[in-house]
Amino acid sequence: MSLLKVANLGKSFGGNRAVDGVSFEVAAGELLALIGPNGAGKSTTFNMVNGQLRADTGSITLDGVELIGRKPRDIWHRGVGRTFQIAETFASLTVVENVQMALLSADAKLYQLWRRAAMHRRDDALALLAQVGMQAQADRPCSELAYGDVKRVELAIAMANDPKLLLMDEPTAGMAPKERNELMALTKRLVVERGLAVLFTEHSMDVVFAHADRMIVLARGRLIAEGKPAEIRDHPKVQEVYFGTGKTFEKKVAA
Ligand code: ADP
Ligand code: MG
Repeated sequence: MSLLKVANLGKSFGGNRAVDGVSFEVAAGELLALIGPNGAGKSTTFNMVNGQLRADTGSITLDGVELIGRKPRDIWHRGVGRTFQIAETFASLTVVENVQMALLSADAKLYQLWRRAAMHRRDDALALLAQVGMQAQADRPCSELAYGDVKRVELAIAMANDPKLLLMDEPTAGMAPKERNELMALTKRLVVERGLAVLFTEHSMDVVFAHADRMIVLARGRLIAEGKPAEIRDHPKVQEVYFGTGKTFEKKVAA
């Protein structure tokens, strides 16, 4: 049974139908890629699932519970996590302190002094860091980390609330190809080991084809294709919206 069910989802901005009757499902233990050209409605879809935006039409259920109309924090508490870029203000904290802050927030002790965070659930934070291969760097300030390592810490932070579904909007933006593949391989490991469901967007098609279990494709707010990477690669509608007729992903990559 699917964890997340999105049915007939719609959102307009003025006369612009940013998301137009979109339906899809995500199962536990599945890494689902949402792709589509710029302006296709990917971020709008994400923001309706996490409650930042309210849908005009349709239904979004998590384990059968309707999410539309709920506040972002309620949705987060119910198990929909998302990756955030580490805020500038937290860059001076160490790696492990950043994860401890996230654990505090998950415990709803948001306003405790961060000094006290230094005592709070350090072992839990270290365990989360171990899952993303960052335990050895726990006591370094985040500001000193390589970009790819910051992304790993962001993933550990997103896991602090033990989400059932993780939303990642362009998680590998700004990363080199090798780092992109490493981050997605790590994400895939969390999907398999924890039965996590992940919905992510990604621009690099080779990254998507290499790591996604399944893909859905949006164009101008509509879902135009759905399937396994091999099926999407050869899908005529997908080829058309990305490259115009007659071209393929392979030719684009070779160009
Ligand atoms: P994607 O993430 O696929 O690039 P978006 O979901 O950001 O696409 O945008 C889909 C469409 O909705 C675009 O035409 C965009 O200009 C429009 N849009 C997105 N957010 C807003 C907003 N807050 N106000 C007005 N229009 C928006
Ligand atoms: Mg976007």
